[in-house]
Amino acid sequence: MIDGMDGRPVVPTSGKLRPLGLGEIEITGGFWVERQKVNESATIGHCHDWMERQGWVGNFRAATEGRLPQDRNGVVFTDSDVYKLMEAAAWETGRSGSDTADSLFRSLTEVIAPVQERDGYLNTSFGRPGQPPRYSDLEWGHELYCYGHMLQAAVARARTGDTDEFVEVAKRAADHVCETFGKGGIERVGGHPEIELGLIELFRVTGEERYLDQARLFIDRRGHQTLDDIHWGRSYFQDDIPLREATVFAGHSVRALYLASSAVDLAIETGDEELLEIVIRQWEMTIARRTYLTGGMGSHHEGEMYGDDFVLPPDRAYSETCAGVASVMLAWRLLLATGESRFADIVERTLFNVVATSPAPDGKAFFYANPLHQRVPGALPTPDQVSNRAASSLREPWFAVSCCPTNVARTFASLATYLATVDGDGLQIHQFADCRISTALETGRPVGIEMTTGYPFRGRVSVRITETDESPWTLSIRIPEWATGAVLTDGGSRKTVGTGTAMVTRSFAVGDTIELELPLGPRWTVPDPRIDAIRGCVAVEQGPLVLCLESVDLPGDSNVGSVRINQSRELETTEDGVIATGQLVDDVDLGWPYPESISLPRGDEIQLRLTPYHQWGNRGPATMRVWIPII
Ligand SMILES: [Zn+2]
Repeated sequence: MIDGMDGRPVVPTSGKLRPLGLGEIEITGGFWVERQKVNESATIGHCHDWMERQGWVGNFRAATEGRLPQDRNGVVFTDSDVYKLMEAAAWETGRSGSDTADSLFRSLTEVIAPVQERDGYLNTSFGRPGQPPRYSDLEWGHELYCYGHMLQAAVARARTGDTDEFVEVAKRAADHVCETFGKGGIERVGGHPEIELGLIELFRVTGEERYLDQARLFIDRRGHQTLDDIHWGRSYFQDDIPLREATVFAGHSVRALYLASSAVDLAIETGDEELLEIVIRQWEMTIARRTYLTGGMGSHHEGEMYGDDFVLPPDRAYSETCAGVASVMLAWRLLLATGESRFADIVERTLFNVVATSPAPDGKAFFYANPLHQRVPGALPTPDQVSNRAASSLREPWFAVSCCPTNVARTFASLATYLATVDGDGLQIHQFADCRISTALETGRPVGIEMTTGYPFRGRVSVRITETDESPWTLSIRIPEWATGAVLTDGGSRKTVGTGTAMVTRSFAVGDTIELELPLGPRWTVPDPRIDAIRGCVAVEQGPLVLCLESVDLPGDSNVGSVRINQSRELETTEDGVIATGQLVDDVDLGWPYPESISLPRGDEIQLRLTPYHQWGNRGPATMRVWIPII
């Protein structure tokens, strides 16, 4: 832990709840600490190795040495991935004090800083002889997108104890953006929102109002068709209608979610209640009609976009890992603004079922897309080969567009900050994990707790008070949306609590322990009947985990497509999943034209082993499905 460290990714100046920094909260064990350790020991280095091998870091060296454009490697926006890696390294430095992560940040700064031009411009793809001119391709050039990630990396650095050279580089770049895209400048937007997030957070670090003003200009300008029309339409980059007029998230999912996140930030910093309400209504509509059971978003591979309402095909789910990260970012901001537990519910669902699904257990291969039904077993990836597309059949070590691995890395390194908050009255626990918290209420009073749990595989959560004064305060605990019948024990008092938020208000003493028992029994889930693609199917969930069926757990070479599940039979919990009952049907080709009716021959009753979706693919090539047709 670094002295004076803030350590928070998002620091709104107002709102219902105050986020905790890496200096105040530490994950100490269980599910997430394993992810964090692998992230530190494997993923961050893995990403760096690939960026060196692919020449993405080398692009900056080539720029300094005058070897561009001939020596440039990778897609036009690879600079952004180097910045995301730096952001991960900064949070990791703050989380664990890792010298390796700190050295990585410093060494990348040394490579990048000399590339900055006198006016603050910094990009390896534009502006040199033989390259397209600066800002000549705002639709796809991604210069502003790259700056956004640069600014976020600098914010992470500034908030983890070091305002070194990279922070200065980022400020010069931000000044350049304000000068170039301010009133009277290029009055357009970038094709991929992200600069807005970086500018507002840099405003929060520096107090420099012009960054906030520029973010507002970008947000207000979008939707006025300053970008070219493309074959997916301007809705792809949210430039078809102003954000304030939209009723639901549409277009490219990551773009839409980054933009909405920045709109929440803007609403908070400017006291714009109306804007906040608009984003909340869009979020509600999107969650209800355009979100997969896993929390995943984006049902079109083509354009990585949201589909229309209820277009949620499980086999064609794109559900990009980055969209999962972005959805967590948005829900976290809405939770801070409103204090409403429904936003923390989505954070949990998405973390366990999208973000945790992406990396392999060794942290060196990733899902880019996260479908809920895999029809054919994938081919084992070659460890040294870049995947050219967002293949979803098995985790791949690296991609030609490799946005997802570093998005996972920066999220895991800063994950502790998403677990709890404080306000003037007390401490709020939003996520369950072994952790230690030592902080102060808004009034300056000290509070500390230690949480222990086997979550998400065990439902007992124990919260022990480690710091307090004598005056009363409130310990709030989120009761997840699915946790009907949760029981809270406080000393001699034991009561069933409803979903939402449970509160204990009293004077605490060090050593007092509050116990929560969450019902983790498996449960059936039926889909909205308007989702045609999964009508007649059910899913099984257990606590926060979506479960799935993999063909490696079926007899012989059966495909999950042949399985029917019997909903009238009890679900049985085992050590490593849930056992359901079902049958295999014989797949027969019906010929053409289709007949009037079908009766498929069924086999004997079999047991169906259902396992957490985030583990799928870990045992090799398999077919897989979350939604299973009922008998
Ligand atoms: Zn991605």
